[in-house]
Amino acid sequence: MHEFTTPIASLIEAFSKLPGIGRKTAQRLAFHVISMEGREVTQLARAIVEAKKNIRYCQVCCNFTDHEQCTICRDTRRDHSIICVVEDPRDVAALEKTREYHGLYHVLHGAISPLEGIGPEDIKIKELLARVAEEPVEEIILATNPTIEGEATAMYLARIFKPAGITVSRIGYGIPVGGDLEYVDEVTLLKAMEGRKKL
Ligand SMILES: [Zn+2]
Repeated sequence: MHEFTTPIASLIEAFSKLPGIGRKTAQRLAFHVISMEGREVTQLARAIVEAKKNIRYCQVCCNFTDHEQCTICRDTRRDHSIICVVEDPRDVAALEKTREYHGLYHVLHGAISPLEGIGPEDIKIKELLARVAEEPVEEIILATNPTIEGEATAMYLARIFKPAGITVSRIGYGIPVGGDLEYVDEVTLLKAMEGRKKL
């Protein structure tokens, strides 16, 4: 690329690698950063580096946290006998916004996808099995996305947990097929949780 001097070009290049950022937006962000005060730029850069350095997986639910266990797992007021299984930490954030779910979560960090070569061992299923073996879990709510991969993952987990005598349910109501949980509005998400079907 020859249109911009190298430091600007590499900044544009870096921004355009981010999800949802097209070429034009990348250019706008790059020029914005350059117009910012040095102090602000340092703060932004530091926030990125610190987040990457300090964030790790919760030992229990695999959600992102800066402690050994996340705030949800540490909260004794929450119902520790229910686990809502989601694909992504952003789904936890979306469900928390409804303020109606008081159980715990388990974040898989993906879904089973034979087409992409992602098997059960590639996502946080082992961790979920270990957890269920150790804790008195009564209900598992499968809140993976309503996509082929999300459904396959939900079916896989249902086949494991149902014979173990655990109530297994799947959210569904109102969630558009092929949709992403994190983009569903709070009311729909709440209805989906309330309308979950026993598998
Ligand atoms: Zn946790």
